[in-house]
Amino acid sequence: MRSGPPAFDGRVTPPAARILGRRTSLGQVRLCNRGGRSPDGQSPEGVGSCGRGNWGRHQAMFRKTGLAITASLLTLVVAQGAAAAEISAGKLKSLKADAVAGVESRAKLAQVMNDKIFSFGELGFQEVETSAYITKVLEENGFTIQRGVSGIPTAWTATWTHGQGGPTIALGSDIDCIPKASQKPGVPWHDPIIPGAPGHGEGHNSGQAVNVVAALAVKDLMVKQNIAGTLVLWPGVAEELVAGKAYMVRDGVFKGVDATIFTHVGANLQTTWGQPSGTGLVSVKYSFHGESAHSAGAPWRGRSALDAVELMNIGWNMRREHLRPEQRSHHVISDGGDQPNVVPSEATVWYYFREQTFDAIKKSWAIGDKIAKAAADMTDTKVSSAIVGTAAPRHFNRPMAEAAQKNIEQVGLPKWTEDEQAFAKAVQKNVGSTKQEGLDVKLKGLKPPEEKPESGGSDDIGDISWIMPTITINYPSNIPDLPGHHWANAISMATPIAHKGVVAGSKVVAMTTLDLLTQPKLLADSKAYFTNVQTKDQKYVPMLSAADKPQTQMNANIMATYRPEMKAFYYDPDKYGTYLEQLGIAWPVKTLTPPAAAK
Ligand SMILES: [Zn+2]
Repeated sequence: MRSGPPAFDGRVTPPAARILGRRTSLGQVRLCNRGGRSPDGQSPEGVGSCGRGNWGRHQAMFRKTGLAITASLLTLVVAQGAAAAEISAGKLKSLKADAVAGVESRAKLAQVMNDKIFSFGELGFQEVETSAYITKVLEENGFTIQRGVSGIPTAWTATWTHGQGGPTIALGSDIDCIPKASQKPGVPWHDPIIPGAPGHGEGHNSGQAVNVVAALAVKDLMVKQNIAGTLVLWPGVAEELVAGKAYMVRDGVFKGVDATIFTHVGANLQTTWGQPSGTGLVSVKYSFHGESAHSAGAPWRGRSALDAVELMNIGWNMRREHLRPEQRSHHVISDGGDQPNVVPSEATVWYYFREQTFDAIKKSWAIGDKIAKAAADMTDTKVSSAIVGTAAPRHFNRPMAEAAQKNIEQVGLPKWTEDEQAFAKAVQKNVGSTKQEGLDVKLKGLKPPEEKPESGGSDDIGDISWIMPTITINYPSNIPDLPGHHWANAISMATPIAHKGVVAGSKVVAMTTLDLLTQPKLLADSKAYFTNVQTKDQKYVPMLSAADKPQTQMNANIMATYRPEMKAFYYDPDKYGTYLEQLGIAWPVKTLTPPAAAK
C-alpha cells in the first residue's frame, strides 16, 4: 500500500521555484511589449513590436554609441520607475472603464477561444490541443510560457511583467472535460456530436477565455498607465480528477504570487468568502493482486482480485451508514478483470473520499485503507494503493471577495433575450429540472459564509486557497439547475449564452485585477485576512507526499479512441463565424421539443 495519509509536518514543500522569480530581475523587463496593440484583440499584441517602438530605436542608437548598458538601465529607471502606488478613486474608476472597453473590444476573441476549446473536448491530462492553443495566444501577446510544469505535459504558466516591484497576480481556470458528455451546443436535448466521446459537460471550455481576455485588457492598461506588476495565467489540468493543482502547489509553481483569482463557470455572476458549500477530497486507486486460473477447470487455484474489489466495496458501503452525513464517497471499478473464464489476477477500484475538513478527509482515507487491507486478507490477495489527486477544502479571501463584489455589481448580469430564456427553459424541462425558470436575472449578492456549509462537490483550487489569498469568480455561461457533469451542461457552452457570460466574467476579473495591482491596501488587507483569520488556527495540510506523481497517462486510451473522429469537428474560426455556424445549428433555436426518438 502507499504509505497512507501522510502525517502533517506543517510545511509546504516548494522545491526550487523556477518560474516566477523573474519579476524582480531588471534585465528581464521587456519594454518591447509596449506597442503593437490591435483594437479587435484578434491579432497578436506586443509581439513584433520590438524595434518599432522607442525601445528598439534607443537600442540601435545605444549600440552605436557604446553606451547600451548604462543607457538601458537609465531608460528602465525613468520609464519603469512608477511602482504600485495607491491611485485615486477617480483614476481607478476611469481605469476600470478602460478595462471594460478593453474586454468588450475582445468579445470576438472571447467567443473564438470559448468555442475552440469546446470543440477540442479533452479529458484530464490529455488537454494537448487546448494547452497548445491557449499558450499560442498568450505567447503571441508577449507572455513567457513555461510548459510541462510539475511534470504534467499539459500544464503551463504564462507570465508577463511590466515595471518593477509591483504585485504578482495569478489568473487560473480549469480546462478538462467530462467522459461521454459529447453534445451539440444549441440543441436542447441529448444529441452528441460523437456518441460516447468526451465533451464539455462541466463548461471548462470557457474559463481561459475569461482570463485571457481580462489579462490582455489589463496588460494594455499596465503599459499605458505604467502600472508595475506581473500577470501569471495557468490552467487547471485534470480538475475532474483533482489531479493537477496540488502537485503544482507542492512543486512551488505559485511561489512569488501574491494573490489568485480563479474563474469557474456558473449560472450567476458571483463570488464568496470563507468556506463555501462543498468538500475537499482525496482520490485513491486500490489495486488488488491475486492469482489467475481457469475459472471452470481449476478455480480453487485462483485468487480473485475482483473478489477483493467487491468485498472492499461491500465493506465501505456498510461503513457508510456510520460516517458523518456530510461525507461524500463514490467509486468506480476501473479494472474488473479481463474475461469471465480467467480468474482476475488484477483488479482496481478507484475511490473519492470527500469531507469538509482536512482531518475528516484523512480519517475517511484511513478507513478506506483499512477496509482495503481487510478485503485483501479475506481473499488472500495483496493490495497496493496510489493517490491520483487531492483537493483541499476551500477557503476564500474576504477582502478580495468584497472588492470583486463591487465590480460584479457594476457589471451586472448579461441581458438575456426572450429566445435565450425560452431555450434555457426548454433545456431545464427536457432534463426534468425541478426549477424551470430559465437564466438568472438577479445577482445573488455576497453573503457571509454558512456556519455549517452544505456538503457537495470539490475543486482543487482549495489547495491554492491555503497558500495565498484566493477567490473564485463564477460567471453566468450555463443554465441553472442542470445535473452537472452531464451532457446537458454542455448545451449552452458554445452559444451566445456562454459568450455573454464569458464577457461579463472577464470584465469582473479585469477590474478586480486592477484593484489588486493599484491598491496596495487591498493586497495588504487580503494578506492580513489570510494570515490572521484564515490560517490562524488551521494551516494547509498537503495530502501528497514527495513521492506521489501525477498520473499523466490517465485518459490517454479514451482520447486515442475518439480524437481522430473529433478532429473533424474542431472549430475553424477562419471559415466560420461561430461553432454553431460550423455545425449548421441556427440561433436562436426554434424547435425546443425533442423528437420522440431523442427522449
Ligand atoms: Zn469544474
